[in-house]
Amino acid sequence: MKEFNPWASSYIKDYDSLITEFGISRLNERLLEKLSDNIYIRRGLVIGHRDLELFLSHAESGKTTSIISGIKPTGAFHLGSRMTAYQMIYFQKKFKASLFYSIADLEAYMDNGQDFETSKRVAIENVADMLALGMDPKNSVVYMQSSALLVSDLAFIFSDDVTVNMLRDIYGDRRFSLYLSALIQSGDILLPQTKNFGGPKPVLVPVGADQDPHIRLSRDLAFKHRNDFGFLPPSAVYHKLIRSLSGNEKMSKRNPESMITLSDSRKDLERKILSAFTGGRSTVEEQRKLGGEPDKCPVFDLYLYFEDDDKEVERVRAECLGGKRLCGECKQQALAMVSSNLENHQVKRAEMMDMARDMIERGNELVKSRPL
Ligand code: SF4
Repeated sequence: MKEFNPWASSYIKDYDSLITEFGISRLNERLLEKLSDNIYIRRGLVIGHRDLELFLSHAESGKTTSIISGIKPTGAFHLGSRMTAYQMIYFQKKFKASLFYSIADLEAYMDNGQDFETSKRVAIENVADMLALGMDPKNSVVYMQSSALLVSDLAFIFSDDVTVNMLRDIYGDRRFSLYLSALIQSGDILLPQTKNFGGPKPVLVPVGADQDPHIRLSRDLAFKHRNDFGFLPPSAVYHKLIRSLSGNEKMSKRNPESMITLSDSRKDLERKILSAFTGGRSTVEEQRKLGGEPDKCPVFDLYLYFEDDDKEVERVRAECLGGKRLCGECKQQALAMVSSNLENHQVKRAEMMDMARDMIERGNELVKSRPL
């Protein structure tokens, strides 16, 4: 089986072979209909799942369920983190699931050499982003990995279930700190099922498709601990990775000029969007004659992620394909749409900073207790 690196910034072009090779399930008609109020599922940006039905069947019958995902606090939210946040908050609201959000400051230290104080400062802003996007503070636990003795306990226990060869099969040949960070992430994913949080229950993990190795490892570890801890295999929904504005890799903090963050000013957005790669042709005449290629265009992606109205997205696509739309005017429209969205978001986020700080303090207390 092909290895897959969740720490790399490569962009996935062929989701079909990813789905086939790693046994991810596609969303069938029934699921698509049931979740059709999710704008990104409707637009085909969620490409598959593992055991989503297990989560839904419990959630729909009113049983307790949880959502978990996390963020490495090395900078402002970018569109990938926003997408994960949207999915978490959507499932939290729709199914009244408790939400767990892990701030991966241990991974930031190991992978980026970032100190814990900086991570805490960045985390407050990241959590304020979550609150501004709609996270329910009364039904959420937010914590820093470095405070979570419970998560470390789980990682330590899991380390007895794996060998380096097994981890190499899943992740490829990596530094041992990354393997350790993978075990800690499994601890995060299985945390909501510990008795400290009410015991075994279906847990859904919304993630970018490149994070599937963490899901496979966590499901394997849940299976190994089905008798002692009673863990159920975590479910997952996978969304497409967001293309960078340069068009050839995933949007990531490693390339700041090619990503849009929720902290960008109008000036930042202008600089980034107006110089973005497009799916346009080399001359106006060609564009009028052949039309553009929206499916290759990171500017079109901005409409998919920011425009609420499906009809407007379709109009942009049709005008692009038909050669009626030129890239200059299209970028200006995208700039106006994104900057108005982010201006509103930044106002809301500023009001949420104190609440975010309190939530982290409260969450850290909850994950400190031991033993399991
Ligand atoms: Fe992209 Fe718009 Fe140009 Fe089409 S017209 S290629 S959507 S920028």
